[in-house]
Amino acid sequence: MSRAILWKKLNNNEIQCQACNHFCTVIPEERGKCGVRLNNNGEMETLVKDKIAALNLDPIEKKPLFHFMPGTQTLSLGTMGCNLACTFCQNYSLSQPPKEQQEPIGDPISPNQILAAAVEYSASSISYTYSEPTIFIELLLETADLAQKSGLKNIIVSNGFQSPQCMNAMDGYIDAANIDLKAFSEDFYSKYCGARLKPVLQNLVRIRKMGWWLEVTTLLIPGLNDSPEELEQMAGFICNELGEDTPWHISRFHPTFKMTDRPATPVETLERACSAGLGAGLKFVYTGNIPGHMAESTFCPSCKKMIIKRTGFKVREVHMKDGACSFCQEEIPGRWENS
Ligand code: SF4
Repeated sequence: MSRAILWKKLNNNEIQCQACNHFCTVIPEERGKCGVRLNNNGEMETLVKDKIAALNLDPIEKKPLFHFMPGTQTLSLGTMGCNLACTFCQNYSLSQPPKEQQEPIGDPISPNQILAAAVEYSASSISYTYSEPTIFIELLLETADLAQKSGLKNIIVSNGFQSPQCMNAMDGYIDAANIDLKAFSEDFYSKYCGARLKPVLQNLVRIRKMGWWLEVTTLLIPGLNDSPEELEQMAGFICNELGEDTPWHISRFHPTFKMTDRPATPVETLERACSAGLGAGLKFVYTGNIPGHMAESTFCPSCKKMIIKRTGFKVREVHMKDGACSFCQEEIPGRWENS
């Protein structure tokens, strides 16, 4: 156990955690909703500061980030626990057990050791991912500080449900983010995720203003968030509030965890969603979890030629020079250094 940040004392040894938008009130010897932040006699402790449950070298395309240093490797890490309770979680074995009062498992790898591993494997960045980086903010900040000083980039892959205090704490360290926009209704967030939509929308706008490179992901679930109206609302929000340059990844759902009562997303539904995104004015809309699909590649919005060819998470061809299309010299939004 290590002392946590982002909390305040209340009366009677109770505390309020201020890491995420749940702002849990935690009574002595209890944990918050994420299951990894504990009230230890009136002081908040984190159970995952030194417990890394997953550590891998990934292509950055796997996050997914398509306009941020393409073709580079990122050292990805995560702990157990999550502040949301998505019934369709694809990483539930990592995210959910601490909610059942199970002790989070993981290896005691220090921020210095993480950085050393990133350097040894020639990673260009470190990604805080797999479960939810908000709930291991202490480990994230310490590692991100070291990484930044060594010239590596820092990336979060997140549900976007941070508190404003947490967003402020990360500002200055994070270079890029992929944030889930799981649906466009409070009902969906409440019923299937145990969360709220509004703070996520506010954080998406905040990230854009803070200047992190931002890409958005939506897992499209048949019958739940794939109606033409909802797709139009999501695409409209991304285009109007975040900007037409914001890449939108629309990903295929596979039945898992508590949501096994519906089929995988039909490819036609994903293609319909892509059309809705492009129709709303977005310049870069991608499909996810359909390896080999054309919409995994980047097309120049001006001359329409393919400028980054991808298969799965692999970059096969790049037709860009100095951040511009090699065919027509149109500038392509993104961070292309080191790629
Ligand atoms: S991170 Fe969120 S869910 Fe966890 S204790 Fe803090 S406020 Fe609650």
